[in-house]
Amino acid sequence: MKKVYNFYAGPAILPQAVMKRAQEELLDFNGIGLSIMEISHRSKDFEEVIDTAKKKIRTLLGVPDNYSVMFLTGGASMQFGMLPMNLLKGQKADYLHTGSWASKAIAEAKLFGTVNVAGNSKDKNFSYVPECKVSPDAVYVHVTSNETIGGIQIHNFPETGNIPLIADMSSDIFSRRVDVSKFGMIYAGAQKNIGPAGVTLVIMRNDLVDQCADGLITMMSYKTYREHKSLYNTPPCFPIYIMKLVMDWLESNGGLEAMEKLNKEKADILYNAIDSSKMYKGAAELKDRSLMNVTFRLPEELEKKFVKEAEALGLVGLPGHRSVGGCRASIYNAMPVDGVKELVRFMEKFEKENS
Ligand code: PMP
Repeated sequence: MKKVYNFYAGPAILPQAVMKRAQEELLDFNGIGLSIMEISHRSKDFEEVIDTAKKKIRTLLGVPDNYSVMFLTGGASMQFGMLPMNLLKGQKADYLHTGSWASKAIAEAKLFGTVNVAGNSKDKNFSYVPECKVSPDAVYVHVTSNETIGGIQIHNFPETGNIPLIADMSSDIFSRRVDVSKFGMIYAGAQKNIGPAGVTLVIMRNDLVDQCADGLITMMSYKTYREHKSLYNTPPCFPIYIMKLVMDWLESNGGLEAMEKLNKEKADILYNAIDSSKMYKGAAELKDRSLMNVTFRLPEELEKKFVKEAEALGLVGLPGHRSVGGCRASIYNAMPVDGVKELVRFMEKFEKENS
């Protein structure tokens, strides 16, 4: 098989060990002679998968007992609307405007109440994390912990006192240690660090679930997912199963501390290469650079050539998001250090040949 390093932003790289295990078990799960994809979500075998996934998520992330761990569908995009639908109820919430994903969250929240933009980095093309000025009467404060497109990451979350802090952690969940007790809710689409597309992880403090609006359709209420343990209807069984395998992998690879150390090491290698070059320019301000999505530019006329030559060497997924252009290397948990070193070798060679 051709050696390929996957720098796509999402759906993104998964650990090889996870995919091998899924392949081995694909036709015969647990010796039952059937695939996990073709058994009832109410079966003992699947129940064990979903329960174990939840337990491992709790242990690895350090989720306190007064929080519910829930599996939804509809991606993080559905959470942009579902969250204000449940909690805003015509009141006011603070949103930190840090880029493309925050902007989508803001647009949806406006359908259900008043949005106060508590900080905005539009003045510099969303290249930094603005200060968050929390309003005392906000019902929650929403932040995007890592802007996947712009390549900026919140390294110090705002202090919000008694106001629940809510974070879209789609592109950096499980990449570092966070104190879950500082958040009212955390949500993340799985397809970057924790599994394939199709499942969305929602972790919510129980008193906030209690406050969710009444009268919503069943599938739009967080209460449904808590009360029915994410099994009110057929959940995304296969993505949940893969997520469970990713949790096994995280556990046997040292958990979040080990991931964080490795992610810092990888990001350092790549940012050092960018900073010491004359051709590549980092897109984000130094202090707010993302450890997950490294965004950079090179002379526009060379960008296509760069991407094409990289691809020929098995370094794929480097074009920036279509809305901003440039280049982006996504280096999630499963990206090995060797992949980043290989990319840096290519970048240095490309610079020599083209300057
Ligand atoms: N938030 C962030 C930070 C993202 O990176 C993405 C997807 N790239 C989304 C939200 C939207 O996620 P989904 O496609 O799962 O709806």
